[in-house]
Amino acid sequence: MRLADKVALITGAARGIGASEAHLFASEGARVVIADVATEEAEKVKKQICDLGGEAVIVPLDVTDEEAWQAAVHVTITRFGKIDILVNNAGIFRRIGMEDTSLETWSKVIDINATGVFLGTKAVIPAMRNGGGGAIVNISSVGGIVGIPQNSAYQASKGMVRIFTKATAIEYAADRIRANSIHPGAIETPMVTPLLQDPSYVKAMMDSTPLKRLGKAEDVAYGVLYLASDEATYVTGAELIIDGGMTAQ
Ligand code: NAD
Repeated sequence: MRLADKVALITGAARGIGASEAHLFASEGARVVIADVATEEAEKVKKQICDLGGEAVIVPLDVTDEEAWQAAVHVTITRFGKIDILVNNAGIFRRIGMEDTSLETWSKVIDINATGVFLGTKAVIPAMRNGGGGAIVNISSVGGIVGIPQNSAYQASKGMVRIFTKATAIEYAADRIRANSIHPGAIETPMVTPLLQDPSYVKAMMDSTPLKRLGKAEDVAYGVLYLASDEATYVTGAELIIDGGMTAQ
């Protein structure tokens, strides 16, 4: 098993890409902490993992709450004894023009998508260092690399995640803590369900995606699995694009 004996905390694991990561990690031997504000949906993920013989625990966590992060790390250590992997996956999306973006919307997107990654990283580093190392995988976006209309706050947050990941990789390499970012394209999850009702959005996505399909949560989860595992022990500060070729053109 690719994550045998590993303990992984995954934010936003109640649904979408995070839930897929939780299922995949558990199936590869990891004990999983499902950390999310959506605790009811998290229960379903936990039950499915446990029904298949895996181990999972739910921690209610708002990634913008520093005290809640301390509690999440405490629960993880108390229950599983250590923390090997953090996946900063939780995020929100707002499709809105720049001039229509209120300061409130801007701040909310930055707080959850970028500050949440900072707080999570800060919270787990001491435990990872004490454990002799660890792996952090941050979910950015192709929007953290190239410009997309109607997306400025989201893109700014994902650009922060991209470069913050490299800062983490450099600052903690000596502690054998690796940090890498993943950059998904259009992935079919509850986050984009409203957008998929708009045929012009779907057509634009198909036209701009050489592989001519939307991504699945599993497409991203397999990349996260690789970067979180010991197969990637020489990989840090890297960016893995999973976008069906969208940004290769
Ligand atoms: P989703 O909306 O399906 O799931 C997001 C999860 O994050 C939910 O479980 C939600 O409850 C949780 N969450 C939201 N705010 C939170 C908070 N403050 N604290 C804790 N948990 C919180 O979205 P998804 O598509 O699975 O997205 C997962 C990640 O992938 C996000 O970071 C997103 O930006 C990124 N991403 C998604 C796509 C896509 O097309 N779906 C593309 C690129 C990047």
